[in-house]
Amino acid sequence: MADRYLRWTHTGPGRFLTRRLGLPRPEVLHRWSAERPTLEGGPLLHLSATATGGCDEKELREALEGCGLPVVRERTDGEGRVAAVLVDATALGTVAELSGVHASLHPLLRRLAPCGRVVLLGARPAPDDHHQAAAQQALEGFVRSLGKELGRGRTANLVRLAPPAGAESAASTLRFLLSPRSAFVSGQVIEVAADGTVPDPSDGSPAGSGEGSGRVRGSGTGTGTGEGRRVALVTGAARGIGEQIAGRLAREGAHVFCLDVEQAAADLTRVADRLGGTALPLDITAGDAGARIVEALPDGRLDVLVHNAGITRDRRLVNMAADRWADVLDVNLASVLRTTDHLLAAGALRGSRVVATASIAGIAGNVGQTNYAASKAGVIGFVRALAPRARAEHATTVNAVAPGFIETRMTAAVPFVIREAGRRMNSLSQGGQPLDVAETVAWLAEPASHAVNGQTVRVCGQSLLGA
Ligand code: NAD
Repeated sequence: MADRYLRWTHTGPGRFLTRRLGLPRPEVLHRWSAERPTLEGGPLLHLSATATGGCDEKELREALEGCGLPVVRERTDGEGRVAAVLVDATALGTVAELSGVHASLHPLLRRLAPCGRVVLLGARPAPDDHHQAAAQQALEGFVRSLGKELGRGRTANLVRLAPPAGAESAASTLRFLLSPRSAFVSGQVIEVAADGTVPDPSDGSPAGSGEGSGRVRGSGTGTGTGEGRRVALVTGAARGIGEQIAGRLAREGAHVFCLDVEQAAADLTRVADRLGGTALPLDITAGDAGARIVEALPDGRLDVLVHNAGITRDRRLVNMAADRWADVLDVNLASVLRTTDHLLAAGALRGSRVVATASIAGIAGNVGQTNYAASKAGVIGFVRALAPRARAEHATTVNAVAPGFIETRMTAAVPFVIREAGRRMNSLSQGGQPLDVAETVAWLAEPASHAVNGQTVRVCGQSLLGA
């Protein structure tokens, strides 16, 4: 949906009036495109918050190379714009050392290009070190505040490494955060926790190697999926966010099974045909949905499973009939558990990536959405609890995205005033696009994201709701 206000603020009169009246002037966000695949405006500065310690230099340099930007080490002086700043604060162990974070970033912020990035690398503290815990937790408040201060489409995020994870484990996450693909992700704390000891049952390689879900498939004979392509399934793929997720996974070469209800069959076929995928008209709440999915898959396995289908049936609880409650809980939550359980038990998820869709409503709550918020909070609980077991037993990761205000048919139906408030109440002063959610899902679905597990990542432009 068009954000007319955003467009108006970039006209002559719009610029004049927003300045005079002190109105928000949202930046036109730089999103990934084939023409503009990397951040722009200058190099990536790689700094250390502490004089000694920190990530392995070589590993971090290799991880940063994937961002496609020239990397400049330890230079806070100089002039000219910078596209991004990465501060390695993993060795931070005391409150006094926090001054290194200030010293690193303070001189640079005025030079950060529009739509630039600040990423801090922190560490999960040792359980018996309350000094390190204080210093590392301080980074969380710091990043969340900085995200609110930066403006002009710039974002700030914290990546927390849990030993033994090193920079190599964080490579896919850094590539994502330090790119235009993360345009609507800000104020997030993402934990990276490699577990190199878990074998991948599918091919015997360590889960921590990241090779598990990138393996070459069988010939796909008779399925049309083609040799070597990853196989993905996206529920609710006929339109909106699901359509974009399917498109994004197809862009990386996956064969995508697009699932949606029978009533959406025409749209679903259009999407699947356009992507060279397979349409799977099916109600995800059907008792045999899991079995029918397995039946439809070439060699009965999936590399990527995206639970995206979702519905709202809003009413205040006092006016909410039992069927409105039951339908929302069934589509948004119970079917996610049923399908995942079935696919795990059938061995269809091995070395795979499961991404579920929560919502900031599940974190902050919303008037008229007790059913929806309960279902989405349930998704977060599901992901957190299943993730360690899915990794240990199936070398599979389980994560969630929690979209904020995204410009879709769902939010177009919201009354104007509430819609405008929802759009502007975040650090980027605008709604996100379905592509923003799709990019985040695609990062979590990468084989290289093997060390990201049990996380719920908000795609909300750092919404004030539930912040
Ligand atoms: P949408 O209504 O545009 O699309 C949802 C799709 O799910 C539709 O194609 C629908 O037919 C399908 N679906 C519904 N019930 C189904 C069932 N039983 N079986 C199979 N498919 C079914 O919604 P959207 O805005 O694209 O949202 C996608 C997901 O993102 C949902 O889970 C939603 O709760 C979540 N979300 C959206 C926003 C937003 O701002 N749009 C914010 C937070 C979370």
